[in-house]
Amino acid sequence: MSVLVPDGTQAISNGTLQSTSSRAGWTRYNWRSDKPQASYLATLAVGKFDITTGRTENGIPIINAYSKDIGDNYGAARTSIERTGEIADWLTEYFGPYPYNALGGYVPNTPAVGYALETQTRPFYSPRQFANGSNVSVVVHELAHQWYGDLVSVAGWKDIWINEGFARYAQWLWSEHENEGTAQEIADYVYASHPADDPFWTVEPGDPGPANQFHLAVYDRGALALQALRNEIGDGAFFEILKGWPARYAYGNATVGDFVAYAESVSGESLGELFDTWLYEPVKPGAAAAGRGAVASAGVVPEAPRSWMKIVATNSVHEHEHEGGDGR
Ligand SMILES: [Zn+2]
Repeated sequence: MSVLVPDGTQAISNGTLQSTSSRAGWTRYNWRSDKPQASYLATLAVGKFDITTGRTENGIPIINAYSKDIGDNYGAARTSIERTGEIADWLTEYFGPYPYNALGGYVPNTPAVGYALETQTRPFYSPRQFANGSNVSVVVHELAHQWYGDLVSVAGWKDIWINEGFARYAQWLWSEHENEGTAQEIADYVYASHPADDPFWTVEPGDPGPANQFHLAVYDRGALALQALRNEIGDGAFFEILKGWPARYAYGNATVGDFVAYAESVSGESLGELFDTWLYEPVKPGAAAAGRGAVASAGVVPEAPRSWMKIVATNSVHEHEHEGGDGR
């Protein structure tokens, strides 16, 4: 991405900044990505940014950019996104080596936009993501997409669960890491907080349809499917799958069916019924399928885990507006 901008502004894009050159009041920015990239993951922002640089412990260069014009959200955005390197290193324990030669995040002055987006190597964050203070969980979500969504891209949009279910589950793992609620506790809360007649359960994460592509159920029921898988096959096989999948289809595309087949091959178990229950039935799975006993049966909603408000903030705009915005 080679862009000429007026002096006093900067151009931010994917990958590494190869060079800049100035002439007669204009500056050219040459950004380069050297790996395959889905078209919707390309990004470009021009504005007045504060730029920070660093490296992950694994040696990957980090470039972050914060618009000088985002007002009250500036501090919380910076506090959150400056942890990008630490979080990317943490994610490698679950997903395998970071797949690109650069990373970072950027926050342009886009107050009308509610969502964040996993633009490759350098996620976009709306300043509104940080309106209620710092939110590291959304950074975990967008960085998880660098493996689940970017490195392995959907074959078609009906495969969106492979992006959003897994990025959401990474937030649950982060909650566990931060002692703010285990993945099982969050799963119990999600399961119990949507009664059987909640339209939430009519969305099939494995094939949500265009209108529900970014429905909350793709995220939360999608992550429930992964917790059910984890309970069924055990932590050993589950985490082997989480780490093996990005390598299996690296820099390519895959379908939900490919994932089911892969999970079966690694675990040695027949998982069709489990995935049908969680991804392809327009009803609330029974408590037994959720691995839950009396609490779920009695309809008692447990207290929300401490991480909950940060996790749902990724989708806050989706919940508060009926069109035009969502968490991605
Ligand atoms: Zn997402």
